[in-house]
Amino acid sequence: MPHPFETSFGVIADRPAVIVKLTSDSGLVGYGESSTLDMPMSEPETTAEAVALLQKKLSPLIGMPINKDLDVVKLSADDRNPVSFFGIEGAYLDLVAQSQNISLHHFFGAVQSKVEAGESVGLHPSLGEVLAEVEKYVSAGLSRVKVKIAHGRDLDIIREVRNAFPSLCLGADANTDYTRGDIDHLAKLAEYDLAFVEQPFKADDYASHAALRRTGIKICLDETIRDFETCRRAIQEKACDMVNIKPARIGSFRESKKIHDLCVENHIPLFGGGRLETGIGKTANAAFYALPGFTEASDITPPQDYLESDVIIPPFEVKEGIHEISNLPGLGVTINEEKLKGLCVEHYTFPR
Ligand SMILES: [Mg+2]
Repeated sequence: MPHPFETSFGVIADRPAVIVKLTSDSGLVGYGESSTLDMPMSEPETTAEAVALLQKKLSPLIGMPINKDLDVVKLSADDRNPVSFFGIEGAYLDLVAQSQNISLHHFFGAVQSKVEAGESVGLHPSLGEVLAEVEKYVSAGLSRVKVKIAHGRDLDIIREVRNAFPSLCLGADANTDYTRGDIDHLAKLAEYDLAFVEQPFKADDYASHAALRRTGIKICLDETIRDFETCRRAIQEKACDMVNIKPARIGSFRESKKIHDLCVENHIPLFGGGRLETGIGKTANAAFYALPGFTEASDITPPQDYLESDVIIPPFEVKEGIHEISNLPGLGVTINEEKLKGLCVEHYTFPR
């Protein structure tokens, strides 16, 4: 990555990608991405673990029919490694959509072909750098910007951004950096008219999120939402106003669709998150974020903004804050095989 991305979890400077390619007897080729991050996030999976797991788990899929009801995640996952297995499901659903001659977003049930883009700004050594990055995105026409915060790096940042951009739809993402004792401090953020504060507390701390919410702060949950059940509990415990769905972290588009439907039913607005994916993962995510429950701008930064090189043709684009989804079958983009080969450091084929 040309510019490291810093959150309260730490700094991401390299972005290894795990790409899954499935080929059908009829000659269709599906692609998926397991976007593990090699740092201690809310999920502990590393890229090396993903590669090892996929080697073990891909074999049973060989010879399976292309069937839209086949849950390949359940079939492959007897461990709790959602991010690793996600690449299998992505590649498989790309194949399913192609076999039905429909685009991935139509397969998911989306009607619209446009996704509104928001942006996430990492922690920076200086306030000036934060402001410059926010300015870049506002000038590019993005309607919502989310700024990362952490202990001791919060009120100052938000105050300055708000002063510089009084009418911007602004959110703050804490990536679980706070504890219950910080509620009074975080409640001071109310002064800055934030659209939401995202995941201030640990994933399982529903009570603290509900308590901060009672002070008037709008809460968006991200790391908490690991599956349908965690989302159901968050709603039941009145712990959120919004949800940030990351299908890769949930480990399945199917499970993510159930969460989407639950949120729609409960009038909880959604937006989609990003994990610094290549164009393969990003394109699949954008297709999912076209579903009607995603009423807020999603984090669909073009990969060329944070990677030195990407592998899809045409490149993933956001123009005037909008990404237009391809109506071609499956992912609807061409994978630059030559480039992918050039970037590949390890390669495994099944059957061998
Ligand atoms: Mg987040």
